[in-house]
Amino acid sequence: MADNKGVLVVGDIIEGKMAAITAEMLGAGKKLATKLGEPLCAALLGSEVKALAAEAIAAGADKVFVVDDANLKDYQSDAFVMAAESVIKAANPRIVLMGQGNVGRDLAPRLAFRLNTAISMDCVDLDVDDNKHLVQTKPVYGGNARAIFTTEALPQMATVRAKAMTALPRDAAKTGEVVDVASGIDPAKIKTKFVKKIKEEVAGVKLEDAPAVVAGGRGIGGPDGFKQLEELAKLFKGAGGATRPAVDNNWVPATIQIGLTGKIVAPELYIAIALSGSSQHMAGCSGSKTIVAINKDPESNIFREARFGIVADWKQALPAFTAKVKDLLKE
Ligand SMILES: Cc1cc2nc3c(=O)[nH]c(=O)nc-3n(C[C@H](O)[C@H](O)[C@H](O)COP(=O)(O)OP(=O)(O)OC[C@H]3O[C@@H](n4cnc5c(N)ncnc54)[C@H](O)[C@@H]3O)c2cc1C
Repeated sequence: MADNKGVLVVGDIIEGKMAAITAEMLGAGKKLATKLGEPLCAALLGSEVKALAAEAIAAGADKVFVVDDANLKDYQSDAFVMAAESVIKAANPRIVLMGQGNVGRDLAPRLAFRLNTAISMDCVDLDVDDNKHLVQTKPVYGGNARAIFTTEALPQMATVRAKAMTALPRDAAKTGEVVDVASGIDPAKIKTKFVKKIKEEVAGVKLEDAPAVVAGGRGIGGPDGFKQLEELAKLFKGAGGATRPAVDNNWVPATIQIGLTGKIVAPELYIAIALSGSSQHMAGCSGSKTIVAINKDPESNIFREARFGIVADWKQALPAFTAKVKDLLKE
């Protein structure tokens, strides 16, 4: 590929809507495109997705490439990799960004291999240097350090962690170009079949979208304690979270694990109870606006991360804390 230009964000479409991470990537992509003096483009792959082009434009895209094909109704990697390759060949971008979600994790490395280029997965910061190289920052060694990469090959590819980037304010008046691209899908090359979609049952607010998260750790000691945390979370219209040991002990489902190998959250309020604040846990919640910690060990690392802290046994502190919140909500 020669004369690569622009930043292309490959959008995530969830339940027929453009995912929040796509708007975040367009926000990050805008900064890179402005610095390069090149356009910001989006690619939407799916079935009957053309109407979403307006959303991508309102989120910052100057141009949207749409691949509309019935084979792209549900995610299937053979079909998506063919369609993504077609769109990248049509757009010829300098930089390709994808979300580090279920689709990006699977699709991005396959796509990079096909395009004979390199990729950095799970980036938390992106920039471009004076040589127009994409500067890709990602956590390494289990979240204990950050490494910075650049690549010579084109297009330069990265996946981006959810909540690491900020979306632009939505601009419904913004205009942009919409270009249809043929999918290039050869059905004979689709080796696996989509059988069934099983929806995760979520009671209350979805963890990733919750304005407040009350997370517990090993020190909670069992599933009953987590019910008390849940009660506090409900008062804030928030969700419950947990560290890995709480999940490994089967006290709570794996769907609420927060951290390097769990979910990434960035709520207004993060209440961390009886957890030590390991780097692997903080990798999933350090973007929270305000962290409040309850821990009986004053030397615990969580107090270095928290804005407010209570040094106490959670079994004593939590009922008083919850009662106070109830009182304040009544006022
Ligand atoms: C590759 C890798 C990936 C990982 N991914 C994740 C991940 O995604 N998420 C994650 O959470 N971990 C992850 N881990 C595990 C991580 O390293 C830590 O072991 C884990 O986060 C510690 O959980 P914790 O804070 O609940 O437990 P601990 O570190 O054991 O801390 C328990 C805390 O509870 C306090 N405590 C105990 N009793 C009470 C009480 N009665 N009242 C108040 N405080 C009390 C203690 O003082 C202590 O600070 C990962 C590890 C590896 C190697």
